[in-house]
Amino acid sequence: MNRGERGLAGDSAGARRREVLVVGSGIAGLVAALSAVSGPEPVRPNVTIVTKGAIDESNTRYAQGGIAAAWFPDDSAAAHASDTVRAGAGLADAAAVDVLTGEGAGAIDALIGWGVRFDRDTAGHGSSDRGVSEGEATYARGLEAAHSVARVLHAGGDRTGAEIERALVADVRAGGIRVIENAVLVDVVMDSSSAAGSRVARVAGVSILRDATQPRRDVIGSDRAGGTSNRAVDETGRPSHPSDALKDASADGSLEFLPADDVVIATGGAGQLFAHTTNPGVATGDGVAAAWRAGAEVADLEFVQFHPTTLDAPGNFLISEAVRGEGAVLLGADGDRFMTRVHDDAELAPRDIVARAIAAQMARQGGAPVLLDATALGAEFLARRFPGIDRATRALGFDWAQQPLPITPAAHYSMGGIVTDLDGRTNVPGLWAVGEAARTGVHGANRLASNSLLEGAVFGLRVGRMLGEPVSGPAASPRASEATTRAAGQSAVPGQDLADNGVAAIDQAAALDRPTIFDRAALQRIMWERVGLLRDEAGLLAASADLDRMIAPVALDRRSVEDRNLLDLARLTVAAALARTESRGAHSRSDISETRPGMARPFVAAARPSASTSVLGTSFVSTALSGEPALTEPSDRETETPTALDASVAAATWIDQIDQSTARVLADPRDTSDTEKTSAC
Ligand SMILES: Cc1cc2nc3c(=O)[nH]c(=O)nc-3n(C[C@H](O)[C@H](O)[C@H](O)COP(=O)(O)OP(=O)(O)OC[C@H]3O[C@@H](n4cnc5c(N)ncnc54)[C@H](O)[C@@H]3O)c2cc1C
Repeated sequence: MNRGERGLAGDSAGARRREVLVVGSGIAGLVAALSAVSGPEPVRPNVTIVTKGAIDESNTRYAQGGIAAAWFPDDSAAAHASDTVRAGAGLADAAAVDVLTGEGAGAIDALIGWGVRFDRDTAGHGSSDRGVSEGEATYARGLEAAHSVARVLHAGGDRTGAEIERALVADVRAGGIRVIENAVLVDVVMDSSSAAGSRVARVAGVSILRDATQPRRDVIGSDRAGGTSNRAVDETGRPSHPSDALKDASADGSLEFLPADDVVIATGGAGQLFAHTTNPGVATGDGVAAAWRAGAEVADLEFVQFHPTTLDAPGNFLISEAVRGEGAVLLGADGDRFMTRVHDDAELAPRDIVARAIAAQMARQGGAPVLLDATALGAEFLARRFPGIDRATRALGFDWAQQPLPITPAAHYSMGGIVTDLDGRTNVPGLWAVGEAARTGVHGANRLASNSLLEGAVFGLRVGRMLGEPVSGPAASPRASEATTRAAGQSAVPGQDLADNGVAAIDQAAALDRPTIFDRAALQRIMWERVGLLRDEAGLLAASADLDRMIAPVALDRRSVEDRNLLDLARLTVAAALARTESRGAHSRSDISETRPGMARPFVAAARPSASTSVLGTSFVSTALSGEPALTEPSDRETETPTALDASVAAATWIDQIDQSTARVLADPRDTSDTEKTSAC
């Protein structure tokens, strides 16, 4: 029976539409949401997207170079897979890579179908019509580092991500999907009654905080078929008047519970862990940290890709790899083209090699930036092919058609994240992950350029398809009795009472040697200097000690929610980097330069259920995903959902898990000898 044949109404088992909550509105979240509502009626789930800022604020929006796929006729999924596995340095999961590359062309077709306007090549150089071109116009394609074929589609020249966001947001707006902007995920809420003896309970929903500085306005698109315009709605789904937004703002700052059958974490990466990053401010790894606290396995956090070429100016504006693909070269301060001595592919060597070579060159020249010379490409070509970079660099006072640009590396992409299977399923029932927040295994120890947008699209489609099935039984929602809207500081995060959290933090501080108040800039500096491009044991131990002394902030508002997550993730990252006593892919240890074949496996960590904590344990406002809002009361359920870490738990959990991880990986048919073979590359 397919999805469309399964009835809903009148089903004796009480089947109903799934309530699906997607957290994040980059390519992964938007595609997952669109895919979920693309199934046939009547089984389409009710989908709500919750996002931290404006709907289009994401890493996706800033993606420049493009999206890779074996889409052109002279390319093949096998060639794309081979390039991807090679970049992954022995850790890429063969089955996941096959999905990514095998389903890549279909994902591009889906994006085109959703209205993404990829650039055309009017000259028709080697492009393909694949049945989707108009007339003689064909699609342009770029060559990027470590790709054996030019297979990168781009849009708006170097504004690929912005164009993808534009098109997908328009579809979401038109697709009957509710969107809650300016709302930050605090925690994944577990339903302990579903645990029934299992170690991990089922997801019940999420807790969120609204941004007190933003007007509260949830928007639900019109039904696809109806095609009417968007409208603002209140929590009950009733259309609201624009003045309601001002009224609603008074309730901001309150913690809310959003019940859901399924929660999809699509919160992107965590570039904000580092002092220099190409990522926007929203990239604080919130979803990964929250999922981990809820018992989800995370892996590969030690693998952080540093983009080799960002402008050595505040904001680290990214100068796309595609610029090197078009022929720009890297020069030392003395004009020496040093990359030709480092790698056969020179400037188009894998990213981590280029980034480390630049860092080494900078060290040789006393920290002065290296130079990216694109002058040979000419002003007209640069402005046409890279209009965004052209505008941005000129606005910062650089004329790259006349002079080389000063360049430094910066943290760019998180290869690790929440462990999922090939459909985005995590080990926590009802919890899914997709995009940069997920660890599907496609990137291994290093990501191939332009594969991340593709991962969001391919696995977003897959997750969405899995969420189309109806469910039975009542929707998850705590019982209603007490009508309470509390200020965030007085509220309780389910599974972690804020007041208790504060006490715990003080207890923790008392137990520590020299406790320090959390300071985001200090954390970012520690991560940059000791957990950055080159690591060694002494530096990592020092970083670990410094982080251990930091007191986890109480999650009162967006900033402190992010800070708590950054601290959790920083500790996990350092612990993973310490545990990986080798150099591999993006993880480079100056004290251990060799790659150890025995370590060609992911290190998996899951929070240890350290305390029995009350879930749904305090009154909070429950905002129903559809229908009427329910005001809720605590249940007395107990679950083994883990609390926030104490200072040293992170390292312990990693170490504990490595052996289990090995066993799991060895038992996993996806981890075949193919993966091992590539470790020699
Ligand atoms: C400057 C730059 C250039 C890049 N260029 C390319 C490229 O050319 N090709 C390529 O393939 N990749 C590129 N990348 C990487 C790529 O953009 C990302 O990996 C990809 O867009 C991630 O998509 P995503 O949907 O997983 O996450 P994102 O696009 O980052 O979206 C995450 C979403 O989650 C939301 N969110 C985060 N935390 C919370 C929370 N607590 N509560 C609610 N919402 C939350 C965010 O607001 C955002 O909407 C680039 C990245 C950068 C920064």
